[in-house]
Amino acid sequence: MIRLNLFCLSFFLFLSIFACDRQYQPDGLIYQIPEQPELPTGFTPKPGWATSEFAVAAANPLATDAGYQIIRAGGSAVDAAIAVQLVLTLVEPQSSGIGGGAFLLYWDGDTIHAYNGRETAPKAANENLFLDPEGIPLPFADAVRSGLSVGVPGTLALLKEAHDNHGVLPWVDLFKPAITLSEEGFRISPRLHSLLQSDDGLRFDRVASEYFYDESGNPYPIGYNLKNPALGLILRNIAENGISDFYEGKFAEDIMYRVQNHPERPGAMTMDDLAGYPLLDLRTEAMCNTWKTYRVCGFPPPSSGHLAIMQILGVLENLETPDPMLSDSIPTAEWLHLFFEASKLAFADRNKYVADPHFVDAPGANWQNMLDPDYIAERASLISDSQTMGRAEPGLPGRDQSVFGVQPWQPDRGTSHISIIDRQGNAVSMTTTIESGFGSRIMSDGGTGLVGGFLLNNELTDFSRIPVDEDGSLIANRVEAGKRPRSSMSPTLIFDLESGELLATLGSPGGAAIIHYTAKTIIGMYKWGLNAQEAIDLPNFADYNSDPVLEEGRFPDTVTQVLLNLGHNVNISPLTSGLQAIQVTEEGYFGGADPRREGVVMGE
Ligand code: GLU
Repeated sequence: MIRLNLFCLSFFLFLSIFACDRQYQPDGLIYQIPEQPELPTGFTPKPGWATSEFAVAAANPLATDAGYQIIRAGGSAVDAAIAVQLVLTLVEPQSSGIGGGAFLLYWDGDTIHAYNGRETAPKAANENLFLDPEGIPLPFADAVRSGLSVGVPGTLALLKEAHDNHGVLPWVDLFKPAITLSEEGFRISPRLHSLLQSDDGLRFDRVASEYFYDESGNPYPIGYNLKNPALGLILRNIAENGISDFYEGKFAEDIMYRVQNHPERPGAMTMDDLAGYPLLDLRTEAMCNTWKTYRVCGFPPPSSGHLAIMQILGVLENLETPDPMLSDSIPTAEWLHLFFEASKLAFADRNKYVADPHFVDAPGANWQNMLDPDYIAERASLISDSQTMGRAEPGLPGRDQSVFGVQPWQPDRGTSHISIIDRQGNAVSMTTTIESGFGSRIMSDGGTGLVGGFLLNNELTDFSRIPVDEDGSLIANRVEAGKRPRSSMSPTLIFDLESGELLATLGSPGGAAIIHYTAKTIIGMYKWGLNAQEAIDLPNFADYNSDPVLEEGRFPDTVTQVLLNLGHNVNISPLTSGLQAIQVTEEGYFGGADPRREGVVMGE
């Protein structure tokens, strides 16, 4: 058996220092804090990682390492995902955590298990949640930075349920990395530092400002050893006693208190709302669809991710493929045009139809109608290769006669993605979020009175801020009590259609562009024959049924010019994805992590 830690062989010095020379116990977890050399910022090329027995991919090296240590101690992919998520709460607080929500897909070698830990709207919430007394929507930033936007967190309930069903190591062991790092401290990464520097909301929260900023209001510097004793204590309690104090006890009281006492825009979350979350049925059915010779599985509504990705992939398969599609590892303008047109069509449907299925019927009573081959062919026929359609109209999947209005565009960005394949070949694809960077900008110390804690999400701004469209039609994704907001998160598992063998696990953060980032990576790996790293490295591009966006600094002017000639108003933006993907290869696994963020892959 080759026991090669390729992570240690990485040609990046900072990576190579990171994980070598550690002692492990054969059974039980003795967590050891890894070295934490500083990471560079910006676009940092990643090598891609080949492993033979297992692989863990997450957005921060400490989080990846926690999952790695868990699997080395005999844990399952689900065990590792739990440890990764708990460490992410600490080291990547801007993106995900126990104050947020998540979707998890788990392949046990036979069945896909899907867990929906999406936040819910409190019982007191209604469609006017984000409207002022005159019925005018609050400015988006005000809606975000408020108690109004905080949904009842679902991540911990999801982790508990997944562990009850698929865990191997004791629950308490999975908390050791995050507790140790909370108590001993972790080094502030360049990305966290620069986000703390530029954020103008967090400093106004008493708990967050004391934790992240010095007395002059400056964030602690890169490399500073930040300790979070409040989170350490909260996690110790949850490790030993389970999730009850979080949903019913003292931690729940503090969450409620912080939400209800937001100084400007308090929310109405109650103890009852929190206590109700673990009683929900978090299990759902993954959606699986055929694309080429693959079976692509993703998350159903309330996520719009899988539906939109499969609509884009399906529409493209119906069109004549431009030759070439790639030139010097850059998608050609002719191919991008078709991708943008397919995206417009998918986003038009998403904005009309997709919402929480507990509240809204699928078009024609079945979400698969949106992916019906005849419907997809009909949508594809609307695309011209010589001129953009500009804005797409929603179609009539399942001959739907619904009267829903169309939700207008709203920004979102944050989130983290975890991909893991364990020694048994079982796989996790989990996308997890507190929505915006640093969520609602409300931090709970769990009532411990200690420094630090965890951030509360602003997931409810993923609902439409307005309940009706310009024509007065109700919007499917409007706020309703107990409802889950529509998501773009797209945890994905790919299988060989014929053999049924697992081929890949992947996903990304990035707001609505998650859909484009994930589609790009699937196309890169399984249409263009790239490995996971090469596919992730491809420049990013997106279209939300508006004007297309190209990743800044990655496309030659000639591409932009051809798109302009086709009638597109091209925008340029950073498009910071955070893709993580692991492919099954003949030798084992090959993982890729996004060069635009701090993620790494580890394995043996
Ligand atoms: N909250 C968003 C969603 O669920 C994700 C935010 C992001 O990735 O930036 O779709």
